[in-house]
Amino acid sequence: MTKYYMPTKIIFGEKTFGELFSELREAKVKKPLIICGKHFISSLRYRVIQDTLPFFKLFTEVQPNPLTASVDAAAKMLNEENCDAVIGIGGGSILDVAKVVACMKNYGKSCESFYKRVSPKTTVPFFALPTTSGSGSEITKYSVLTTNEGMKKTLKSDKFYAKIAIVDPQLTYSMPPELTAATGIDAFSQAMESYWSKGAMPETDKWAEESIKLSYFNLVKAVKDPDKYVRINMSLASLNAARAFSNTGTTACHTLSYAFTKHYGLVHGFAVAITLPWFLGFYAEKNEKKCLDICSFIGADGIEDGKAKITQLLQQIGAPARLGEIGFVPPDAEKIIEMSMRHKPNNPRRHTHKDLEQLLVDLY
Ligand code: NAD
Repeated sequence: MTKYYMPTKIIFGEKTFGELFSELREAKVKKPLIICGKHFISSLRYRVIQDTLPFFKLFTEVQPNPLTASVDAAAKMLNEENCDAVIGIGGGSILDVAKVVACMKNYGKSCESFYKRVSPKTTVPFFALPTTSGSGSEITKYSVLTTNEGMKKTLKSDKFYAKIAIVDPQLTYSMPPELTAATGIDAFSQAMESYWSKGAMPETDKWAEESIKLSYFNLVKAVKDPDKYVRINMSLASLNAARAFSNTGTTACHTLSYAFTKHYGLVHGFAVAITLPWFLGFYAEKNEKKCLDICSFIGADGIEDGKAKITQLLQQIGAPARLGEIGFVPPDAEKIIEMSMRHKPNNPRRHTHKDLEQLLVDLY
């Protein structure tokens, strides 16, 4: 049996930003809470919002690797101002905050209580507009937040799906090269992880394959010499990766990434991608067919060539390919392994403590 679920209405294309206003009218929204990044406030599109929406409230206090405390602060504004919708305009960090806030109308408790059970009292509609091409958060049921204890933890609920996702590649034009690289390689990783995931199914494989090809063949140009066409292709790569991993989840590359972000401050996309070549080899021992497919999508002749091509991609976009480059030293091994032993049900092969020791040696 396979089950594919995607309740979000997806609007994709250049200049689709303006669709937001007709969608808000259709949903009879009177006073939305807009959660966005500071970079967006200085853009022309923010002025369009100011000129078009008679009433709205603004929340901009969201940092990368967002805190549960930021969710609570935004939820307080939602309730005090009696807003009737949430609009998230930003990268994965903003969208991850916004989707949880939309579930906190009259909630009265901290969002960390959702880690026990996501049981909102009332939800308001959530409109998601990504400004990066990588997280895919605009159409997923996941929210990755940093708790008061400093742990990055994922919340998951069907309640978090956006009502509408508007993916306008023009919103990503302002991304500087490193952000383009880190978010684009996140999309590439999500698509690879979805494709080899135990939860993969024909629907997700189709999206993952398209996404792997789009990001592999467009990312270097998007980082070094972007034009309209590569920006469109990277936005589509990100959206298609999310169409895939929203239903399959990610795998061990994501689990390990949280330790690299926590201990060395590595940005999310780079933290995920650094172990991709290693896991391609590791998972090929269990599911060779899927891993060989991935190699063929990127024009590689077998697993070793695939590993080399992905490592070369990392180097070309300025991402670290070795753990020594990010500050890892062998005495840190235990603390990295300790955070990374948790298994995702969709991992195609279980990793042992010894496997991770080997990974850390191989990638040092
Ligand atoms: P981000 O949202 O953390 O943004 C990084 C920085 O880029 C911020 O300072 C932001 O203000 C700035 N920025 C965003 N768009 C910009 C633009 N167009 N121009 C200039 N600056 C811009 O980056 P991200 O990679 O999109 O998101 C990463 C986060 O998303 C991580 O916390 C990760 O765990 C999470 N994530 C969530 C999911 C999900 O399904 N919920 C999936 C993958 C990643």
